[in-house]
Amino acid sequence: MTKPGSKERIRQFLLAHVGEVVTSHQLRDAAGSNVSEWARRVRELRLEEGWKIRTHNDDASLKPNEYRLDERPPATPDLTFLRGISAKLRAEVLDRNGFTCQMCGLTPGDIDPYTGRKVRLHVGHIIDKSLGGKDEPSNLRALCSGCNEGAKNVTAEKPSAIWLLSQVRRAGIEEQKAVYVWLQKKFGNNG
Ligand SMILES: [Zn+2]
Repeated sequence: MTKPGSKERIRQFLLAHVGEVVTSHQLRDAAGSNVSEWARRVRELRLEEGWKIRTHNDDASLKPNEYRLDERPPATPDLTFLRGISAKLRAEVLDRNGFTCQMCGLTPGDIDPYTGRKVRLHVGHIIDKSLGGKDEPSNLRALCSGCNEGAKNVTAEKPSAIWLLSQVRRAGIEEQKAVYVWLQKKFGNNG
């Protein structure tokens, strides 16, 4: 059990030192001497409440045991600061998606014909976080770098009629006839 109030004490401590570098030692003291979980509390503030607490991972000027709250956190958590989701959740999503990009179907190690680079998989949000999407397995999927950056014109949406017609118009006459035969078979004369 966490001693009640330890997170609140860290909160107050950080708010009193906005923009200043604080050490893990100070944070531990702020949390209370019985609390050995100060690091977890700090992580929760970052991940769950979107506090912009920099560490040496984000800012090369900080040492591994140093932290800095850049600005007073907004009343509503700004989760766009977060760079990523937990390693555990990532692994879960990649495994569920069979290590395959859910938009273009490429897998790690393939050479992406669009970018010419070796495929690397990322875990991306289906509904963007800025639109209220959550860091939950149901809102996450495996995407290759190209699709994740929106560099490739592949979408999960069904093709539009305009796009389909444009493709049919530029196809050869034999392909157009094949489409015609297929459509006739499907819709008969009532099309
Ligand atoms: Zn892809």
